[in-house]
Amino acid sequence: MAVIHVALDVPVDRLFDYLAPDVSPADIGRYVRVPFGNRKLAGIILSISDSSLVPSEKLKTAGLIDREIPPLPPPLLELFKFCSRYYHYPIGQVVMSALPALLRKSGYTPDRLPRPIQEWTLTDAGRAITLPDIPSRSKSKRQIFSLLLENGTITAETYKTISPHSRKLLREFKDQGWIEQRTVSLKESSFNTASAPVPTAEQAHAISEILDRTGTFTPWLLHGITGSGKTEVYLQVAASLLAQQKQILILIPEINLTPQLETTFRKRFPGTILVSLHSGLNNSERLQGWLQAHNGKAGIILGTRLAIFTPMLKPGLIIVDEEQDHSFKQQDGLRYSARDLAVYRARQANIPVILGSATPSLESYHQAGISRYRLLQLHTRAISQAVLPAIHCIDTRTTPVHEGLSDPILDALNRSLEQKQQSLVFINRRGYSPVLLCKSCRWIATCKRCSSRLVVHLRERQLRCHYCGDQQPIMPACPQCGDPDILPCGHGTQRIESALARQFPKARILRVDRDSIRHKAAWQTMLDTIHQGKVDILVGTQLLAKGHDFPNLALVCVLNADSSLYSTDFRAEEHLFSQLIQVAGRAGRAHIPGTVLIQTEFPQHPLYQTLIRQDYAAYAQIQLKERQSAGFPPFVYLAVLRAEAPLLADALEFLHQTAKIATTSKEYTHTQLFDPVPAHMTRLKGLERAQLLVQASSRTRLQIFLGDWCQRIAALPPRKKLRWHLDIDPLML
Ligand code: ADP
Ligand code: ZN
Ligand code: ZN
Repeated sequence: MAVIHVALDVPVDRLFDYLAPDVSPADIGRYVRVPFGNRKLAGIILSISDSSLVPSEKLKTAGLIDREIPPLPPPLLELFKFCSRYYHYPIGQVVMSALPALLRKSGYTPDRLPRPIQEWTLTDAGRAITLPDIPSRSKSKRQIFSLLLENGTITAETYKTISPHSRKLLREFKDQGWIEQRTVSLKESSFNTASAPVPTAEQAHAISEILDRTGTFTPWLLHGITGSGKTEVYLQVAASLLAQQKQILILIPEINLTPQLETTFRKRFPGTILVSLHSGLNNSERLQGWLQAHNGKAGIILGTRLAIFTPMLKPGLIIVDEEQDHSFKQQDGLRYSARDLAVYRARQANIPVILGSATPSLESYHQAGISRYRLLQLHTRAISQAVLPAIHCIDTRTTPVHEGLSDPILDALNRSLEQKQQSLVFINRRGYSPVLLCKSCRWIATCKRCSSRLVVHLRERQLRCHYCGDQQPIMPACPQCGDPDILPCGHGTQRIESALARQFPKARILRVDRDSIRHKAAWQTMLDTIHQGKVDILVGTQLLAKGHDFPNLALVCVLNADSSLYSTDFRAEEHLFSQLIQVAGRAGRAHIPGTVLIQTEFPQHPLYQTLIRQDYAAYAQIQLKERQSAGFPPFVYLAVLRAEAPLLADALEFLHQTAKIATTSKEYTHTQLFDPVPAHMTRLKGLERAQLLVQASSRTRLQIFLGDWCQRIAALPPRKKLRWHLDIDPLML
């Protein structure tokens, strides 16, 4: 009888064998229910054979094979196997962390069948209506109607993002005879190419280069300065592939608060089904989108990192926008890099992959340098009047600073106010101040569960740990010496907001950080407020640095950036450079020339010197040289073994033991193991953490060693209360 090899969601890296009487090769990739201990589990059939290493009398018989859902396609199964091998993670758990939640547990049932996509289109009567016909007090009504006027149609996915009452509003429009409902089918794909601008010479070059090689695996690094119109390159390449009935997968960083790119794509391709897979979806929405990608109905799949596991019937192109963004790396469970997997999938499907960025990761830039990736560059801004902002450093060792703000910054803000232009004060630290200090005995408020300082949130009168979320009221006096004179030190967004309010009492100030926008709705309202010009000064964290276009923003002031310069994290500088280029890119997007002022104690630092010239290439060269001489990626390959336990000594002792078994491995010769050390944040949520770094000059060597080592570690006797994991190509050490 045939034996099926099944991936199950259990933490053991192997497949489980079952007898299956009526199985055929067409069942590979299908769901099957199987007995496991005294439970029934759903798993995926990964392969079929006529034998098993398990003695036949011990083999159990599989239950029902689900033949209603199309099987997972072979390339996706290959991708799962690759992930399991490369990230040294149990195959069943790879499969289960990559599939939509509704498919994980019990497989598919017919009542979860996605409904066909419903779309509302304007009738002739509707087209005669203008926005002023709609009462201005109904904001979401106007918003929906203006979308309809612009595109002629609106899909359920879009209107749901606008307001919870959208469905009701649409019914009202329907009752008025302005719109009608219809079901979309893929054949109707039409492009709104009329709205496409004429590409600049650089864009045209990039587009034609990419289109010349669409039928083969080609990794492109699209390096374009902010505002150079990388999106337009994506759009025009996508248009050509959609016309060939191919599917496009676009990965974006975890900024699901911004539907901006989604809107752009929907506008350009109104007749194409676009599914958006981000963490804001509920399970059934995610499943629907996933199935539409799977069966080829969706032309465009837009999503955050998990979307890299979306099956596609006819893949044509993969795009990774802001490829340097750290959110493409999953930080727990299966610690995969969606960017790296994008390149793997493109090779597998024999299609191009575009990695786009204004500040590419040094890994990708290096790949382009050694011609593994093809480099395309956009050096000029797409809108001809738009020039790059002028960047200046303000030396805070010689310039007076009041409440965190230097004189030149206060002057510049004042001028902006007079000229009725918007300004952004960027400080990447939320809360009021990062430290609460007793002047008499130098006591500092720290978290009981983490090796971190508690952040003062004055407005809420609380101390909060930004690592574990613990909070407590601010105490009236020092708990150590009783002195009531305890002071917040340093600046966060709240404190800068208050300081600005005192300096500019007439200005309209808006703070944007994770505390001020807990909900998606709050975020949208805030964006509207900014766009309608109802804000003079924005105070914000990195949330505001990414991808937003604020046409009236002319001045960006950067506070407190220095802390990343001498960090223990070897990627901190790269991250800072990228972030500052991004935030500088917010200034002067359209017709206003922008200015960026950076407060620093180290104006001569190479990072600031190259930043002022906005010379990414020069900066990357310096960094790559440093990485090479210090032996860091991309010149070596890293993996880190982390352990956590209630006692640091236990975690360290475990790592020492793993190091000992490593040196007896015959694969050890080309690998270097460092001493186990406490992690940078040693204590987190009540557990002590330690780590052991492994490095090799060849990826293959490292992989061979890790495969052997992992098995030996797994065979060690289990320890109570100790957990460990391996992180391949770690972002943080
Ligand atoms: P990037 O993502 O590279 O920072 P964007 O794609 O946001 O840049 O483009 C910046 C601005 O330039 C956008 O407002 C976009 O609509 C506009 N734009 C892009 N390409 C062109 C073009 N060829 N002609 C006119 N405007 C363009
Ligand atoms: Zn004290
Ligand atoms: Zn904590």
